[in-house]
Amino acid sequence: MNDAGKTIVIVEDEPQIAGLLQDYLRGSGFSTRIVGNGLHAVATIRAIRPALVLLDLMLPGKDGLAICREVRDFSAVPIIMVTARIEEIDRLLGLEIGADDYVCKPFSPREVVARVKAVLRRAAATPVDDGLVSLDEGRHEVRIGNQTVALTAVEFQLLKLLVSEPGRIFSRGRLMAGIYPDHRVVSDRTIDSHIKKLRRKLEGAAPELDLIRSVYGVGYRFEFPAPA
Ligand code: CA
Repeated sequence: MNDAGKTIVIVEDEPQIAGLLQDYLRGSGFSTRIVGNGLHAVATIRAIRPALVLLDLMLPGKDGLAICREVRDFSAVPIIMVTARIEEIDRLLGLEIGADDYVCKPFSPREVVARVKAVLRRAAATPVDDGLVSLDEGRHEVRIGNQTVALTAVEFQLLKLLVSEPGRIFSRGRLMAGIYPDHRVVSDRTIDSHIKKLRRKLEGAAPELDLIRSVYGVGYRFEFPAPA
């Protein structure tokens, strides 16, 4: 896949960090746009429709949480949140903000570029269609009947994995390995938190269906709805 020319918006108020990210991303063939004040972030994202957003949490004007929520009202663009505190990530995961990945400061710019590429790769893979429930990977959407549900990249990967073998029980470890191919270690709680959000979204579209089942002490499995 070719990332050349794809635009990344860097929302970051520290010029040195923004410049560093810009240099590395440009070095990998991306175009970049730096936004230094939170107040201008949403309008910029709306106007230039970037391929991905790197979003700092602490910003003047408007913080990253509020920006992420506002963007999700009109766009499924992949968002990587950047935070100065690792403890923040746990808190952020518990919130319904719709980010696709998280990076902690201080970071290595190479690592950030690798994450950007991984998130874009996930977003670009081929659509999956299983009849009753169809997955559109390019858009991170799942369609259930005539309802369309926008998912984060992580939620989408979880669903795709579960759907790949309906009825099979996936352990949390297996799900973790499937969504974080870089072998990042996250807690079981993180997986549960993503599954919880995913279920809530699916239930919002089809309250009568119980698509993702918990298997107590083991993990999760996906069941297709019975044909009407
Ligand atoms: Ca900041």
